[in-house]
Amino acid sequence: MPSVSASPTRLKFWGTRGSISVPGQGTLRYGGNTTCVELRADDEIIVLDAGSGIRPLGLALEKEFKSQPIKLSLLITHAHWDHIQGLPFFAPAYEKKNEIRVRGYDGVDMGFGEIMAEPMKAPFFPIAMRELSATIDIKKLTEMEFSAGKVQVRARFVNHPGVCAGYRLFTSAGSIAFLPDHEPYRFLHAAKANDLSPEEAKQTATEERIGLVEFLQGSDILILDAQYTDAEYENHVGWGHGSVSSAVLLALDAKVRRLLLFHHDPSHDDGMLDAIVDDARQLIRERGKHLEVDSAREGEEVVLSN
Ligand SMILES: [Zn+2]
Ligand SMILES: [Zn+2]
Repeated sequence: MPSVSASPTRLKFWGTRGSISVPGQGTLRYGGNTTCVELRADDEIIVLDAGSGIRPLGLALEKEFKSQPIKLSLLITHAHWDHIQGLPFFAPAYEKKNEIRVRGYDGVDMGFGEIMAEPMKAPFFPIAMRELSATIDIKKLTEMEFSAGKVQVRARFVNHPGVCAGYRLFTSAGSIAFLPDHEPYRFLHAAKANDLSPEEAKQTATEERIGLVEFLQGSDILILDAQYTDAEYENHVGWGHGSVSSAVLLALDAKVRRLLLFHHDPSHDDGMLDAIVDDARQLIRERGKHLEVDSAREGEEVVLSN
């Protein structure tokens, strides 16, 4: 029987892309699947988001566990398609022996349970959520701190259209922060921002950034939205995503050990993502700081050691 506990704490990237899947020759190295990251830590399997990358994860789990039950937690950051569209194609959901705990927050106008069930309703999909054979336990999160087995999780709402959470997971081998979609606070997405004067908005932005730096402080690994180059971001202010320099500066301020640029733009091919990493490293050198940075790559495994 596969033993989760015997394995080291590790992350595996099954989908690193934002917005929409982009398979093809240009994305072979960094991958074309949308958001899905697997964490194995402290006897737990925790899956972060259910983009199209959750499909190959499901196949790998079936191969590993064979007739043994698969028990895992799936944490959803928000309901945008690129973060949930793979769930109907997650093979373990179709096996009676498996138990899948699905957790996330209510949206602005829709409860979490409805958010997860809606895309599987007719006419969008032929099999309804309630027809899945596995035990699927969908519950909304109401607290900003909770646990998945021995892994403690803290959540924070980030700057993105609608309700979108970032998670920080504390394992016995270090902590991992997962913020796949987040825009710098220069543009405020919160509905309350509409009623603020420019001065109040500036004050709110400053406070929010300080709060986020505290939330991320000392993370061993930060997986962060860096969808746009700095030049591209200027034409996408308000779209909900970050730029390379904003990701690097946030990671430096929070004294993160390793930054993995994430939610790659569908128009960025492998060569472009190499160039983005070069830019990020250049910026770190210019600041005279040390920070490990890479573009997250589909298929890559990151092992955390104590
Ligand atoms: Zn997204
Ligand atoms: Zn989003």
